[in-house]
Amino acid sequence: MNAEIIAVGSEMLTPDKVDTNSLYITRELNTLGIEVVAKCIIGDDRARLTEAIRAAWKNSGLVILTGGLGPTEDDITRDAAAAALDVGMTPNPAAWDAILNRFQKFGRTPTENNRRQMLILDGAEMLLNPNGTAPGQWFHRDGRVLVLLPGPPRELKPMMQADIIPRLIAMLPPQVIRTRWYRVALMGESDLDQLIAPIYSKFTNPATTILAAPGDVDIHLRARCETAEEAEALLAEVGDPIRELIGDKIYSENGDSLEQVIGKLLRAKGQSVAVAESLTGGMLGQQITAVSGASDYFKGGFLTYTDEMKHQLLGVPEGTEAVSEAAALAMAQGARERTGADYALSVTGFADGDQAGHVYVGLATAGDVHARKLKLSGDRLRVRTLTVLNALDWLRRSLL
Ligand code: ATP
Repeated sequence: MNAEIIAVGSEMLTPDKVDTNSLYITRELNTLGIEVVAKCIIGDDRARLTEAIRAAWKNSGLVILTGGLGPTEDDITRDAAAAALDVGMTPNPAAWDAILNRFQKFGRTPTENNRRQMLILDGAEMLLNPNGTAPGQWFHRDGRVLVLLPGPPRELKPMMQADIIPRLIAMLPPQVIRTRWYRVALMGESDLDQLIAPIYSKFTNPATTILAAPGDVDIHLRARCETAEEAEALLAEVGDPIRELIGDKIYSENGDSLEQVIGKLLRAKGQSVAVAESLTGGMLGQQITAVSGASDYFKGGFLTYTDEMKHQLLGVPEGTEAVSEAAALAMAQGARERTGADYALSVTGFADGDQAGHVYVGLATAGDVHARKLKLSGDRLRVRTLTVLNALDWLRRSLL
């Protein structure tokens, strides 16, 4: 079964409001093994919406609409769905009771407009909305399904869980879904894809998805089979050679972030880390401490932006060039000595200007200190983000 999602509402066509419902719905459908093949946002325009529903209903077995179920003239989803499916609508007394109850609970009386909200497509099941007034609707005809869900996420999500997912599961052939997840640091998306596409592109099952952020790529494999053994065998057939090719650039196979991986490694060894930051202005410490329980292994950090601070707080010799290998070495050494941490990372560099992306990262360990020169490209945020990733990944590899 393939699905389409239609988000209804003109506000999501402005630069201020994002359609997050479709992301949530997609995630839930994918978990059931249903692929979303198309989605769109339609403003409050009855004719356009009717046209969009008609096309989706023709092309996909499952069409999910969100939003536009309110009581006003602008709330067009019910009318457009009825027109597209060529069915009438009938007031549903149970839906009206639920609306009345909800208004009473808040000491209010419904308006005449609210009566629109009890209109249910002929042939559809009404889905009670415990968190709002607009009921949802489940319309099933000839093996195809159209679903109407309210727009507010706090109303939509419980309905999806309680009413939609169980009905979908009952319709789907028995199947088992197994996934693998590789997270890869410091490989460009296109380099990575070039490397692994010859393997995964031969298969549609498992389905492979690649999600990329600067310096950080996620590879998801999802196998759908009748048995767990078959699904695992397919994942191994595609996933094992991918793992082999990427090697230790894979930092996590369970979804853990780089900082979580480092935290687990440090905790397992009973060791600690400290940081000395210039260029990244605290981002490195921020990222390490984003993990709950980081106090078990993070000693603290120095945010030394000026030469004077580098000298005073970290003992970087006066006259050392701020962005240099010598500075990175002295910063890491100084942070390690002053905190007593087992490892200390340092970063110094230029985020913009003529020498943008010219960065040094230092790592001090027991009895050793090294620095690496990086040449990074991109804007200020990207240079700083990639610097943090490089520093963290270096620490991870040292811990392995
Ligand atoms: P209700 O009558 O309960 O308000 P509704 O179906 O009429 O439900 P809308 O009026 O379309 O819902 O939207 C209500 C609010 O829900 C919006 O202001 C917005 O904040 C949120 N919302 C609507 N659609 C989406 C979406 N696709 N993604 C995220 N939020 C949404």
